[in-house]
Amino acid sequence: MPRVSKKLSIIHYGHPSLLRAAKPVSAVDQEIRELAVEMISMMYAAPGVGLAAPQVNVSRHMCVIGVDEGREKTELVLINPKIVSVFGLEMVMEEGCLSFPGIHTHIIRPSGVEIEAIGLDEKPIKLRAEGFLARVIQHEIDHLNGVLFIDYLAEQERQRLENSLERLKGKTIKKFGLASVAQK
Ligand SMILES: [Zn+2]
Repeated sequence: MPRVSKKLSIIHYGHPSLLRAAKPVSAVDQEIRELAVEMISMMYAAPGVGLAAPQVNVSRHMCVIGVDEGREKTELVLINPKIVSVFGLEMVMEEGCLSFPGIHTHIIRPSGVEIEAIGLDEKPIKLRAEGFLARVIQHEIDHLNGVLFIDYLAEQERQRLENSLERLKGKTIKKFGLASVAQK
């Protein structure tokens, strides 16, 4: 049976799929390759520096990253990535998220990360990253486990953002017709 190609779009906070852990990728097949290509173009178009499959409402343990740090450009497709270890100091950095348009906040995370994943060529990837790239990698891998950057907010900052978050959730529920599942 031919695969029905459906147009992907980025889902926003309030959509229940963002809170679910994504299914592992069992094989790097045509579907996964097409998904990666589409996600990379959506990420750059947004524009953003990372996009995880759950953000396009696809339950696959996979994310794409495109970080341009001047001299160094890094584009990654990470399939079944996992964090092996973190290192370095805890660092405060401003984060945003394509699933939280207009919302930015400071988040504390370790400054370095070591990961393992599979690439689109099915070869294992071992990567040690620091600074901004490490930040993006941690944020995207979190998405694959249903974890969002706002899960790290201190109470005071959560209160500051509460109205914006509620507004966004309301819009999302309307847009995706989620009233029955998302009202709690
Ligand atoms: Zn995000």
